[in-house]
Amino acid sequence: MRKLLISKLFVVLIITTGTYSFSQSFDSPHFTLEHIGDGIYAAIHKPGGQAICNAGFVDLGEEVLVFDSFLSTAAALDLKQAIKELIGKPVRWVVNSHSHNDHIRGNQVFSPGASIISSSEIRDYLVIHGKEEAEEEQSHAPGRLAFYQGKMQEAQTEEEEQFARMWIGYFEAMVETFPDLVITLPDVVFNDTIILYGSKRSATLIEFQQGHMESDIVLYLPEEQILFTGDLVFKEMHPYLADGNPAGLKQTLSTLLEWPVNTVVPGHGDVGKKEDIQAMIRYIDMAESMAGELKMQGKTHDDLDFAKIPELYRNWQFSVFFKTNLQFLYDLIPVQ
Ligand SMILES: [Zn+2]
Repeated sequence: MRKLLISKLFVVLIITTGTYSFSQSFDSPHFTLEHIGDGIYAAIHKPGGQAICNAGFVDLGEEVLVFDSFLSTAAALDLKQAIKELIGKPVRWVVNSHSHNDHIRGNQVFSPGASIISSSEIRDYLVIHGKEEAEEEQSHAPGRLAFYQGKMQEAQTEEEEQFARMWIGYFEAMVETFPDLVITLPDVVFNDTIILYGSKRSATLIEFQQGHMESDIVLYLPEEQILFTGDLVFKEMHPYLADGNPAGLKQTLSTLLEWPVNTVVPGHGDVGKKEDIQAMIRYIDMAESMAGELKMQGKTHDDLDFAKIPELYRNWQFSVFFKTNLQFLYDLIPVQ
């Protein structure tokens, strides 16, 4: 009897788990979907794909909110399809967390239909620079793609291969999808905070200034304690600091640490925890003190090419950003 009961339970579990994972799965070459809450998904960039950044979507009840729209329309179209299959409700909002290309170029896939929402500062930046940046990217992309395809052929290590694969996806996205690109600007802007109420849950968007860029938006779901950070956080990857304000970024990260947060969806890297926010602060501290020491030693900007990545960060991806970050921080230190 007991055995029978166990085996029955086992069968039920298999069926339940099987059905569950089947209904939650969606296959895309551009991202992997992670179900992180009831009606809440993180879309994590897949190596070699054309998403490049992470994104996510949230069922608000009658409608869906999308956080970031990827670099390519191909990846954004897959995201739209995933929402159709897994939630089956219309997309009402698409948040642009900041103005870097990999977070905004898929906007056109959701518009018209959805409102694109950002801070007024992000919109202002895109009004001034958006078209010019996209044209420049499109003109350079074929040459850069060929360069990284060559790098892939020459790659000797897994890291070199991983690096070349990432940039191939990046420039392929531009070559393949930018000819049809329609610059689609945010049509709703806010400053500071906005709460979008749905019948199932509300989504809070908060703007921080002077962080990863001049303006960055996070999505916070207070009941679920889920935080989508955009590029304020990279998980186990060297962040890109050179378009922002490191002191402001650390201040923002310290603020985020004070919030009740269980799950962190970073702009790049896997889904993480609060510790990954702390790790970001430690990384900036490390890079700042290294840049300071090198300046004290009388090293020049060019000498930084030879600076070694500290042991703790050797396995982090995007190692090319280490040098960029160091040089950026070095230049911020006033000459004595
Ligand atoms: Zn960014």
